[in-house]
Amino acid sequence: MTQEVNIIGAGIGGLTTALTLKQKGLNVKIYESSPEIKPVGAGIILANNAMQVFQKLGLQDKIEKAGNKISYMKITDDQLKPLSVVNLSEYEKKYGVSNVAIHRGELQRILANEIGFDSINLSKRLTKIEKNELFKLTFEDNSTIESKIVIGADGIKSVVRNQLFAENTLRNANQNCWRGICEIDLPENYHNELNEAWGKGKRFGFVKISDKKVYWYALTNSRSKTPDNLLEIFKEFHTDIQRIITATPISQIITSDILDLKPIKKWQDGNVCLVGDSAHATTPNLGQGACQAIEDAYVIGKLLDKGVSIENCFLQYQTIRMKKAHTIVNTSWSLGKLAHIENGLGVKIRNMIMKNLPKSANRKQMDMIFNLN
Ligand SMILES: Cc1cc2nc3c(=O)[nH]c(=O)nc-3n(C[C@H](O)[C@H](O)[C@H](O)COP(=O)(O)OP(=O)(O)OC[C@H]3O[C@@H](n4cnc5c(N)ncnc54)[C@H](O)[C@@H]3O)c2cc1C
Repeated sequence: MTQEVNIIGAGIGGLTTALTLKQKGLNVKIYESSPEIKPVGAGIILANNAMQVFQKLGLQDKIEKAGNKISYMKITDDQLKPLSVVNLSEYEKKYGVSNVAIHRGELQRILANEIGFDSINLSKRLTKIEKNELFKLTFEDNSTIESKIVIGADGIKSVVRNQLFAENTLRNANQNCWRGICEIDLPENYHNELNEAWGKGKRFGFVKISDKKVYWYALTNSRSKTPDNLLEIFKEFHTDIQRIITATPISQIITSDILDLKPIKKWQDGNVCLVGDSAHATTPNLGQGACQAIEDAYVIGKLLDKGVSIENCFLQYQTIRMKKAHTIVNTSWSLGKLAHIENGLGVKIRNMIMKNLPKSANRKQMDMIFNLN
């Protein structure tokens, strides 16, 4: 009989894991708390490592067509003058894929269509998971299932992790984050690049995600959460940034806290394992949270290809993946602090250091991130 795997959560981690397992011939069922695969009104950057995985899953063309290729990543000062530029063409040649910026809704739609909606059970919020001979899963609607193999892909506040794993410390970076999408004619020089402008205790990033759409994100140290006065907060920033803010309806701006999961030592226990944010949620400063979830799926798939059974692959998956995922969590946490220095002199020194960083430093980091486990 085909092995059945039950996955909790239909985010990017759960969907990519489900698709991988399905392509390997397993019978996969997803249980998602939301009543629909609801597109978050924001974009996402799929870095080269994630696109390598999607290439192997046969989705490179679909994702590239729905999104926009990015060949440069720039950190700039508040006037969009570059402090650090990463040219990605070398990696594009090496791996045959580009970084792609895309609407989250588009990505979820592509993944869900590929898996098939008959494998995705919506309005199924897991409330309890008990480990007996089989796992007993209880949902909010009081329905239950028994399952031999469970994958927790239920995000940073994972019920699977909270109930079956001991360590669980969420850390708040104390930064406010706003995200939005607007329709604007972005000057052509920005078309294939991500720009992130660093000011004093705040930053603003933007990237084209389709013909007319631009995704942006803004972070500050401020306590104010309402997006009403973003123009005022970013008043000293370049006018192109102000145009982007002005072009976005306030009602469509998403406000979030920036949290991560303090690295934990265990992502698996027998026939249950965690993937994505439930295992290693990171702050978004390296743009790698979803990419790491996608790599989790890749490694599980690779182990299956080697003939390891699904129930025997979770420990190896943890051993292979943990070092890189935790390096990203820790590096991203430190980068977030650097980006949000408030003191004027500190900002000048930081910007000078950024401008003079040897190219080899960026290259080392990109090599580490883009090289699949
Ligand atoms: C501001 C910001 C910008 C970011 N930008 C990027 C970027 O550019 N690139 C990148 O790679 N990453 C980025 N990330 C990180 C990325 O969004 C996450 O790492 C990624 O979405 C994690 O996917 P996941 O599937 O593990 O978890 P989630 O996306 O959180 O999905 C979990 C799913 O499980 C469901 N669920 C939760 N609890 C239950 C339950 N009890 N029962 C059933 N279902 C449940 C949820 O509804 C959800 O659908 C960013 C994050 C933030 C905050």
